[in-house]
Amino acid sequence: MRIAVVGGGINGVMCAASLGNAGHDVVLLERSTLMSATSSASTKLLHGGLRYLEHGSFRLVREALHERRWWLDQAPQFCHPLQLLLPVWRGQGRSRHLIRAGLWMYDLLAGSARLQPHRWLDRSEALAVLPGLRADGLVGAFSFWDGQMDDLALGLWAAERARSLGVSIHEHTSVDRVTTDGVLEGPGLHERYDRIVNCAGPWAEDLLRRSGLTPRHTLDLVRGSHLVVDRPLGTGVLAQVPGGSRIAFVLPWKGKSLVGTTEIRQGLGDPITCSDDERSYLRQFHDSVMEQSLREEEVASTFAGVRPLIRSSEDPGRATREYALERHGALLTVFGGKWTTARALGELVASRVA
Ligand SMILES: Cc1cc2nc3c(=O)[nH]c(=O)nc-3n(C[C@H](O)[C@H](O)[C@H](O)COP(=O)(O)OP(=O)(O)OC[C@H]3O[C@@H](n4cnc5c(N)ncnc54)[C@H](O)[C@@H]3O)c2cc1C
Repeated sequence: MRIAVVGGGINGVMCAASLGNAGHDVVLLERSTLMSATSSASTKLLHGGLRYLEHGSFRLVREALHERRWWLDQAPQFCHPLQLLLPVWRGQGRSRHLIRAGLWMYDLLAGSARLQPHRWLDRSEALAVLPGLRADGLVGAFSFWDGQMDDLALGLWAAERARSLGVSIHEHTSVDRVTTDGVLEGPGLHERYDRIVNCAGPWAEDLLRRSGLTPRHTLDLVRGSHLVVDRPLGTGVLAQVPGGSRIAFVLPWKGKSLVGTTEIRQGLGDPITCSDDERSYLRQFHDSVMEQSLREEEVASTFAGVRPLIRSSEDPGRATREYALERHGALLTVFGGKWTTARALGELVASRVA
């Protein structure tokens, strides 16, 4: 079949690769450049998502843990296992028993794809692993492992892989409208395909509406920002933000550290940048976790992306990170998803497209 994929983020690229691998004649159309939107603005973790266990997302976590292994095995030049600490401070945050139960389940769901089993570190062991950790009230920390990626480089690697599977990729090619019988329209573009796969990420719902179609799913657009901090770090740490139940990260990143992230609902036309409020929220979070507070001049840069979440909860933090497919005739639209699970999504799309 002749198939067009709209959107050159990680989901579009992995869908195109799976369709190419299944023997279809595939073109991928990206209005800007590959990986220029959400897929290069992530927290850069290839992970199961430990905190999704609290929402009962066992299927998603299990799939993501197995997909994490796939990326680490296939492209070790762009991703690697990363040790993470989950500290326990006296009288603060989730209980030690709850975290232990979550990590036990995380290891179990990973099965043969497990990296290293979690373990408890007492106070002095935790401070030896991460000397900058806030020592005041520290009881100890759980240590566990996930993957860390260079999302831009890994995404471009995935695009090269798609090309090698026969996918023809066209950047700077915008799609304005799609029809249910497979016609794709844009500036200088009017082409008919057997199938169209809409992988426009945060813009997927908008493309349907602009095409006069009524989607059954609604996207919840939730911005997440990060600070890149001029301070090297050996090990990652995740912790509860002060005064809330959200979890945020301080991670080593290319000789610096990465502090993220936030969850701010926004509209499609709003700027995708880190606001002053997010900047101070992230600095406050950093200072609640690390011994030495962050000076403004240490913030080397910031970046932000918009999560295309399927609307499922009033609280964006509880919204599902699952993906869903919606069919309108010859058009298949992808809603939601995570970086880590993009390959599994691609396989599902390839199995459904026929
Ligand atoms: C702050 C943040 C942190 C995250 N952290 C992680 C993490 O650590 N691990 C993880 O697994 N996931 C993470 N995610 C989720 C993950 O980044 C996203 O699920 C994923 O990148 C979405 O990819 P996508 O291809 O659907 O969207 P995008 O990457 O946004 O790609 C969509 C593409 O479609 C193009 N496009 C849109 N409209 C058109 C059109 N009309 N014509 C042509 N092209 C069009 C856009 O230019 C864009 O390039 C995070 C997300 C955010 C925002």
